[in-house]
Amino acid sequence: MALIVQKFGGTSVGSVERIQQVAEKIKKFRENGDDIVVVVSAMSGETNRLIDLAKQITNGKPVPRELDMMVSTGEQVTIALLAMALITRGVPAVSFTGNQVRILTDSTHTKARILQIDAQKIGAELKMGKVVVVAGFQGVDEHGNITTLGRGGSDTTGVALAAALKADECQIYTDVDGVYTTDPRVVPKARRLERITFEEMLEMASLGSKVLQIRSVEFAGKYNVPLRVLHSFQEGPGTLITLDEEESMEQPIISGIAFNRDESKLTIRGVPDTPGVAFKILGPISAANIEVDMIVQNVSHDNTTDFTFTVNNPDYENALGILQGIADEIGAREVKGNVSIAKVSIVGVGMRSHAGVASRMFEALAKEGINIQMISTSEIKVSVVVEEKYLELAVRALHTAFELDAPDHRQDA
Ligand code: ASP
Ligand code: MG
Repeated sequence: MALIVQKFGGTSVGSVERIQQVAEKIKKFRENGDDIVVVVSAMSGETNRLIDLAKQITNGKPVPRELDMMVSTGEQVTIALLAMALITRGVPAVSFTGNQVRILTDSTHTKARILQIDAQKIGAELKMGKVVVVAGFQGVDEHGNITTLGRGGSDTTGVALAAALKADECQIYTDVDGVYTTDPRVVPKARRLERITFEEMLEMASLGSKVLQIRSVEFAGKYNVPLRVLHSFQEGPGTLITLDEEESMEQPIISGIAFNRDESKLTIRGVPDTPGVAFKILGPISAANIEVDMIVQNVSHDNTTDFTFTVNNPDYENALGILQGIADEIGAREVKGNVSIAKVSIVGVGMRSHAGVASRMFEALAKEGINIQMISTSEIKVSVVVEEKYLELAVRALHTAFELDAPDHRQDA
């Protein structure tokens, strides 16, 4: 008999009919004899609706404590509805808010971190044969204030509960049937991955693949909670996210291709090349809370150098203004920016044991006549910046070059 934590997202509990379907599904699991703890999100659109109400009444600036008090109600509705649906079907069930379980968090309202989970109450209910339904996304701080874990935080609730209860698996049910090699909207030949490591998933997630809240993947990796992404209403094995790297000859070197259109590039030219210059440039940028992604400093000639980095699109104007000021201050020649760029990354733990991965990437891009503007690498990732209009072409070419295309894809589909 296994203990499984199942998390259902907003679309999976988005209507009474959907909740009925989820209840049917859970009933079947119970009939197999497994212990089930269910975590649910608010009905789809509900969290946005509540945030909007708060904004209306406060001219857009709700007090974080009260905002948490309100948005946590979205999940309180769905846990009760699901528990009712289960009980109506003859499945003993009980619902708990984060406070009732005691999911203890810090006091950082709207993006609190889980500190501790009391497993006792849930354990006792499971022993009595009940399905325990827990509100996702919420907790309580040491003073009894209700907190929330950041958008998409129910994933993290699911994983944290699985860790605290030492569950056999945490299953995340959603509206896709797993994690894909890349976005199927860009590459129709994208494949569902049987499995992927926590590390790879983190890279994919941080690069814009939005299947799971990033924090939940970090949490799962830290506590080694096997995590499975599955479709709520379609049968299938989904994608297993684990620690081990599968020892298999067929395992491709690259697991997936991630991309991000929402980056911009900034260059400061003719910077006097003296100690401390990188800090002079990037210090004020980070002081303005602007996250910098890729950074490249050129080899200097005539004692000046060029410096290029990327930021998220919404930060571009701000960063450009700051950089202009710095250029004047340190006597740099000019500042240039470009928002029409995109980042493409290949991700795979197989890189550790295979040489020539980066050059294979560059070759594939060269064949398509795509110019690479920047390159950065990490142990399991190679990223390039290309002109945005070539993004789709680049992703498709790489998907083919690294043998990720689905073999059975029918062109006429
Ligand atoms: N309901 C919350 C949100 O919309 C949390 C979640 O769905 O995971 O962000
Ligand atoms: Mg979600």
